[in-house]
Amino acid sequence: MATFKALLAAQENGTFSISVQQLERSALPEGEVLVRVTYSSLNYKDGLAVTGKPGVIRSFPMVTGIDLAGVVEESKSPQFKVGDEVAVTGCGTSETFWGGYAQFARLNAEYIVPVPKGPGALTLKQAMGVGTAGFTAMQCVMALEDHGLKPGGREVVVTGAAGGVGSIGVAILARLGYKVAASTGRGAELGDYLRKLGVSEIIDRATLAAPSKRPLDSERWAAAIDNVGGDTLAGLLRTMALGGSIASCGVAGGGVLSTTVYPFILRGVNVLGIDSLRLPNARRREIWQRVARDLPLPLLDSMIQVVPLDKVPELGAQILAGQIHGRVVIDVNA
Ligand code: NDP
Repeated sequence: MATFKALLAAQENGTFSISVQQLERSALPEGEVLVRVTYSSLNYKDGLAVTGKPGVIRSFPMVTGIDLAGVVEESKSPQFKVGDEVAVTGCGTSETFWGGYAQFARLNAEYIVPVPKGPGALTLKQAMGVGTAGFTAMQCVMALEDHGLKPGGREVVVTGAAGGVGSIGVAILARLGYKVAASTGRGAELGDYLRKLGVSEIIDRATLAAPSKRPLDSERWAAAIDNVGGDTLAGLLRTMALGGSIASCGVAGGGVLSTTVYPFILRGVNVLGIDSLRLPNARRREIWQRVARDLPLPLLDSMIQVVPLDKVPELGAQILAGQIHGRVVIDVNA
């Protein structure tokens, strides 16, 4: 294939545009490994990028898509050989270098991991069902475990539970034996979906986000995965139990945090910052191995919808509006 299809973002005279283009293979950037991409996925950050919101794409023209899974076509790295099934999750893709909404991608080996084989082996479609969202959810669970979380205590709450990070976070926590509560704006519509993933209680997102004049409210949560930030994170801080930890990974509800120091000094609450972007390759592999071990694949399959490449801009707007649930996998060849 001398040319390949890609969802290309451009900016001319301050005007953003995005469209599926046919690009020359020679236009691909330098890199050690050429991947024939099979699937990509849709994450909140992709929504920002493909709708032209500032802060994601740092240079134009940019092949968008922060994730990709496919088969190695050429390799100058001893770590990968032709025919290997590989995955990439957000690592600068669609920000500083070309990403996965394309039939081909070329990048350095440090960003690439093998798709897990053996017990819990993932298909390329499942790998993108996981994508950055699932990878981040697993990272959150591992951070909470590193800070002492064990099954058997109080509930763990997941905010923005019906989204990508949220759905996979719920499924992993439930599989590990935690009692999981979901904070969601879509309990009426998606209650059954969340219960099937393993949620035992659903609370309306307005509950945690409600303002309070008190620095602390009743202790409730052993831990939290927070996709939402803002007033929701403030509400979590007020209601964490003694020694509880919050894995703070998201900003879907707002980036400004107004709180007090009392949760920290009177209840020993920890806020664990989660950044899935700048991780060494060895850590990425560990996280994928845990995904293979701890994410029930039938539940993952039940979260996935597959859509063609040209639907991405439309779905990107929908994910920002909080209208997507579960995971969207992009078939870049459709
Ligand atoms: P999704 O859109 O799939 O999920 C976000 C969820 O948040 C929605 O489904 C919705 O859940 C809830 N939500 C949306 N808008 C609002 C709002 N205005 N107020 C309150 N809740 C809202 O996105 P992803 O799962 O891809 O990403 C989730 C968050 O995590 C994003 O902020 C993203 O940027 C961040 N992220 C960060 C990473 C990191 O490395 N730190 C990596 C990956 C993601 P519901 O309908 O259940 O209420």
